[in-house]
Amino acid sequence: MKFLVVDDSSTMRRIIKNTLGRLGHKEILEAEDGAQAWETMQQNSDIDVLITDWNMPEMNGLELVKKVRAEEKYSDLPIIMVTTEGGKAEVITALKAGVNNYIVKPFTPQVLQEKLEAVL
Ligand SMILES: [Mg+2]
Repeated sequence: MKFLVVDDSSTMRRIIKNTLGRLGHKEILEAEDGAQAWETMQQNSDIDVLITDWNMPEMNGLELVKKVRAEEKYSDLPIIMVTTEGGKAEVITALKAGVNNYIVKPFTPQVLQEKLEAVL
């Protein structure tokens, strides 16, 4: 299963990557903003799960989710948003944009595992 992890913090990307690794997932692509993520998705049509931050330069996570969901081929792609934006309004906004699940930073490996299992 191939993952695309998008976050402008390299530390956060590493944490998510390590957590996925511990869960047995080794195929992980990274991008540091939405624009780079979109580019990566054009070059890799076989991404199975998108895990994205919200607050990023260039193109933020919400914009990325909207762009991805606008494409028919990505209508079923599982998307998890990992963000510090934990307010109820933010969660609703993200879900409306097409996010399947939502994780508020900081999170435990257990939480990532549970949210992942819920969308797969
Ligand atoms: Mg960020």
